[in-house]
Amino acid sequence: MGCLFCKIMNSEIPSEKVYENKRVFAFKDINPQAKVHALFIHKDHTEDLCQLIKQNVSQLNDLFIAIREYAQQSGLDKTGFRVIINQGKEAGQEVWHTHIHLLGGERLGRLNSR
Ligand code: AMP
Repeated sequence: MGCLFCKIMNSEIPSEKVYENKRVFAFKDINPQAKVHALFIHKDHTEDLCQLIKQNVSQLNDLFIAIREYAQQSGLDKTGFRVIINQGKEAGQEVWHTHIHLLGGERLGRLNSR
């Protein structure tokens, strides 16, 4: 079947790219939960956060460096933003390519666990 986010990264499925560098790709979430809602993925595929940490934890550096750069470019570093990683079923992970949600562009509500 292939990975949805790998296909997006390779332009086999359309997306609205917001950021790219050598290692990281980011695009708008199709079902935004805030005015700004982007998904940051590493170009080297892992299924989830735990696999990423086990296989190559330095990918987290790449992802967070990219997020900081995007935040600076878009002004979100001044207003604030939230990052979320859903790990596994009970957290609601639906796409099995590790991704970081970046939410912002407006005042966000409190985090709800349910
Ligand atoms: P998660 O629940 O953490 O696995 O998040 C998966 C996210 O991917 C959800 O917020 C979806 O709205 C988003 N998503 C699914 N398909 C697409 C797509 N084709 N383009 C952009 N975002 C997508």
